[in-house]
Parts: sequence; C-alpha cells; structure tokens
Amino acid sequence: MTHIAPQPGIMDIALYEGGAAHVKGMSNVTKLSSNENPLGPSPKAIEAMQAAVAQMHRYPSSDHASLRGAIGDVYGLPAEQIICGAGSDEIIAFLCQAYAGPGDEVLFTEHGFAMYRISALAAGATPVEVRERERVTDVDALIEGCTDRTRLVFIANPNNPTGTMISTAELARLADGIPKQAILVLDGAYAEYVEGYDAGASLVASRDNVVMTRTFSKIYGLGGARVGWGYAPKPIIDVLNRIRGPFNLSSTALAAAEAAVRDTAYTEHCRKENATWRSWLAEALAELGIPSDTSCANFILARFASAQEAESCDAYLQSRGLIVRRVAGYKLPAALRMTVGDEASCRALAAAVKDFKDTHS
Ligand code: PMP
Repeated sequence: MTHIAPQPGIMDIALYEGGAAHVKGMSNVTKLSSNENPLGPSPKAIEAMQAAVAQMHRYPSSDHASLRGAIGDVYGLPAEQIICGAGSDEIIAFLCQAYAGPGDEVLFTEHGFAMYRISALAAGATPVEVRERERVTDVDALIEGCTDRTRLVFIANPNNPTGTMISTAELARLADGIPKQAILVLDGAYAEYVEGYDAGASLVASRDNVVMTRTFSKIYGLGGARVGWGYAPKPIIDVLNRIRGPFNLSSTALAAAEAAVRDTAYTEHCRKENATWRSWLAEALAELGIPSDTSCANFILARFASAQEAESCDAYLQSRGLIVRRVAGYKLPAALRMTVGDEASCRALAAAVKDFKDTHS
C-alpha cells in the first residue's frame, strides 16, 4: 500500500500517553494519575445528564447559550465572550488552528502541558519551549523567547505538572511584554483550586490579545463529559466560532456542565477538601524525605533522589494498585505526579510510599 504523507509536522507529534493507559485491564486500582476530582461531579450534574438522555434523538444546542449564560453568571463574565469546547484541549487546538501556521512560533514553558506542543505541530507551526526557573514559569524568559514570528504564548497557571503558579502582577507583566502580534493564553485548568484567583480574567477584559481557558474536567469532576471553555475578546471569539463544529458538545455534556457550574456550594466543598488533603499528603511525603514545591492545584509533584528511585517507586505503587503519573516526558524523570485523592487514597498512598522507602533505602 502507498503511504500517503500527512502535512509536515504531524509525524513529529508523539502519541499522547493518557494517565489511564496502564490502568487498562487492572481491577481494584486507585487512579491518581490524571488529576481528576476524587469526589466526582456534583450530584446535580449527574441528575441533569440523566434527564438530558430523554432528548438524545435531538441535536444539541449549537451556540451553547444556556451553558455560556451559566458560566457568565457564576464567573461574572459576559456570555458573548465565552466559547465552549470538547474539553479545553479543543479550545487550545482551535487557537493553534486559527492563529498559527507554517513559519509561526508557539511558545510554552519547559514543563508546560503536552497539548500545546501537539496542537502547534498539528497546525503546522513550530513549537518553542522556554526554560523555567526552578519549575516556576519565568516571565522574563518567555518575553525574551518571543520573536516577530511568535503568534501564541501558552502558560498554565497553576501549571501542570509542576503545581506552581505566578502572581497576577507577573501575568500582567507577561501580557505587556510579549509582542502585539502574539496572543497570550492563560490556561486556568486548575484555577478553581486557588481561592480568590480570577485566572487572568481581568487581563482578558483589559487587553486585545489575552485569552483565558478553563475546564470542567478538574474541580467539576466531569473529565468524561469533555467540556472546556474560553473567555476572550470578541474578535477572537468570532474567529474561533468559525472553525468550531456546530455540535461539538453533546446535550448530556452541556446539561451536566451547566448544573455543575451552578452548584457553587459543591465546588467550594471540593476546593476545601483538596486543600486539606493536599497539605496532608505533601507533609507526609516530606517526612519521608520526598520534597515537593508548594502546589496550588489538585496534585503534587513528588521529587525523588533519582530517576531510578522514581521509577521503582512507581512500579511499587502500581503493585499496590496505586496509579500515579511518571512525568519523564515532561523532562522530570526523577519526579512522580500524584493527584490528591480522597482521604482514604491519600492515606493509602502515603503508607505505600513509606513501605517503599523502608524496603528500598
Ligand atoms: N490544561 C491543563 C494545564 C491540563 O492539565 C489539562 C488536562 N490535563 C487540560 C488543559 C485539558 O483538559 P480538558 O481537555 O480535559 O479540559
């Protein structure tokens, strides 16, 4: 058979290895590898999803007006400046598709989220990785990394997989420092875990070239529903809507997300539980001689003495049914990213790491 070559750049994309990859075929596992909410979604989201099933023969809303209205109400944003996608992954892909092509550069940080590179390459653009400072986004390095070919600058704040974040003042400095032809994308996938943080919404409101992306996959516990959203200046929303498929979100996903975002008491409960068990887990690991940077998200980046130790701890945890994430692909071979689970999972994880240390040191 003749191999029909795809567009340049496509074969440079490494296949995404999801956190669920090694859970396949295993029973009785505690999955702490994809930064999911261990408490699940609001019960109201499940109810709304079930009710929506009755209308499955109908196409879903194409303008997502009801969900955008709910997001607008809860986050205090104008609904006409919101766009919804099949996960924030899709918003990231739309941005690259719409604004970057061959010869253009897409910047992101050294330990930035994998989809930035994938979407840049898929659009035919050139991904450019910029160094961080001790696993923290370095605004100066990003500004220096820009050229007249830079079209998009992605940062996640808090960042995955490091868990660190920079201040809103630093975000503003970044927005002001990048060239005018570039769009700054502030990925707030984990923003709800940070009390009182607007994820850069105020910067979007005051500038022409700043976009914020958010997700229902993390604190809202709806990773399986695939809903994300973006908040952007109107001209950018208009551009993105032109490449968005009209029915990119299912009716069940739309219903679930709307009920979830409106259940603010449940969101607050999840935020508090995460904060409690995140500190507990970080301290428990520190007592075992495993440091981590202060995490602002729902996971901890546990740093081991060597790549070999991280690898054998990962294997040991797997043998105990605890699935965490190796982040060697993010150039962090000596670290394991551990999602903050519920109380039982955090206790089980700490106990297993202790047993590993006792038997392997
Ligand atoms: N951004 C960051 C920083 C993430 O960690 C993730 C999920 N791992 C996403 C975006 C994409 O999330 P989703 O497509 O599920 O909304």
